[in-house]
Amino acid sequence: MEEVLVIGGGLAGSEAAWQIARRGLKVRLVEMRPKKQTPAHQTDFLAELVCSNSLRAEALENAVGLLKEEMRQLDSLIMRVADSERVPAGGALAVDREAFARGVTVEISSQPLISVERREVTKVPLTEGICVLATGPLTSQPLAQSLAKLTGSEHLYFYDAVAPIITLDSIDKEHSFWGSRYGKGEEGSYLNCPLTEEEYLTFWNELIKAEQYPLKEFEELKLFEGCMPIEEMARRGLETMRYGPLKPVGLVDPKTGQQPFAVVQLRQDNREGTIYNVVGFQTRLKWNEQKRVFGLIPALRRADFVRYGVMHRNTFVNSPRVLQPTWQLKDHPQILIAGQLSGVEGYVESAASGLIAGINATYIARGLKPLIMPTETACGALAHYITTANPNRFQPMNINFALFPPLNERVRNRRTRNMALAQRALKALKTIGKI
Ligand SMILES: Cc1cc2nc3c(=O)[nH]c(=O)nc-3n(C[C@H](O)[C@H](O)[C@H](O)COP(=O)(O)OP(=O)(O)OC[C@H]3O[C@@H](n4cnc5c(N)ncnc54)[C@H](O)[C@@H]3O)c2cc1C
Repeated sequence: MEEVLVIGGGLAGSEAAWQIARRGLKVRLVEMRPKKQTPAHQTDFLAELVCSNSLRAEALENAVGLLKEEMRQLDSLIMRVADSERVPAGGALAVDREAFARGVTVEISSQPLISVERREVTKVPLTEGICVLATGPLTSQPLAQSLAKLTGSEHLYFYDAVAPIITLDSIDKEHSFWGSRYGKGEEGSYLNCPLTEEEYLTFWNELIKAEQYPLKEFEELKLFEGCMPIEEMARRGLETMRYGPLKPVGLVDPKTGQQPFAVVQLRQDNREGTIYNVVGFQTRLKWNEQKRVFGLIPALRRADFVRYGVMHRNTFVNSPRVLQPTWQLKDHPQILIAGQLSGVEGYVESAASGLIAGINATYIARGLKPLIMPTETACGALAHYITTANPNRFQPMNINFALFPPLNERVRNRRTRNMALAQRALKALKTIGKI
């Protein structure tokens, strides 16, 4: 019987192994802990949650709620254990972290088709048949180097410095204008958010004292090497941001016919032009603080953040360049990449990618055509985004409704629109039949 190798027993690897075994194939799941720990994991359990114990919102009109529902319908192990180990968390699905990881470990260990090996893999195995690589954001150094060699080092990143991403339809068009500096560049590539001197001063004052996440020991090294957090730049002086990302030169507000005092620029972030990132705003501010302080920019008063800014250690491939929407490497289709390493962001997204990669590993083993999930589904929208985003500025992404193809008719109310998108997704999931 064909055996599939799964490397990394985190959220993605555990789900992938489970999906492969439940389709009748043998799995060798290789996990380096406890022989070698990552800087964030604490236990030797599979599927350990390294930080929060929340798998985020439950409601279907929230994209991550829909993603979880799709996973349930696809018989996800991670979802089954999460549902049985839930703790009260309002509208979110939170779990008892130890019971959750123990539950997944027990299920995997008692599945007769899965054997678990505890050792570090130091090279991407190109001669051992089909392999799902799911070693996560803290992939050990030798394996990361081997993957960098395989994909081209410029296609593997070790650090995430992401500015917030906002939906286009939540940006106040009365307080923003389209245009590139000095009229250069493509029409419509930047949406500019002007600030008066007074608005700038208020924003700066709040930014320098806003609360931020503390640095983890293993993250210190990289932080100031690359791009600087916006709050750090602000602390260097009142004018520093006006010579950096908030520089107004070359921009004229058509409403006043003048150059504004300062300008925050938003840049298109997906091919469909439904989401925009705030240029130069990589940040360590707490999420509620990002909403409060960035909301002082007039055009962003009602901004809907599909992703908050973060700066942390992360290992991920440039998926638009190297991955197919089936989660296979373009140049080595017997290798599938899942989890955070594939350029998705978050516990649920990582597990969902493992689920589809696991299914596809069995399809490939049986000589069948691997599955591309419909883009109307959350699983499909995620795969579509990471394989079609701009490769020159690729950053990992949480699931959100701006990644879905729009509805045929315009629905103004956001909740109603999201519900319609969710219902369409669940219908599309049914069309693929039994997998
Ligand atoms: C510090 C930190 C905090 C985070 N907090 C959150 C959060 O609160 N909420 C959220 O939704 N997401 C969070 N994330 C992002 C992400 O969702 C998680 O990292 C998630 O666990 C990713 O799942 P995964 O399966 O890709 O990787 P992991 O769950 O990390 O699993 C990867 C596994 O591979 C193993 N491994 C690594 N290298 C090797 C090797 N060479 N050989 C064998 N095994 C190896 C590791 O030991 C690990 O068990 C966080 C990430 C980090 C780094």
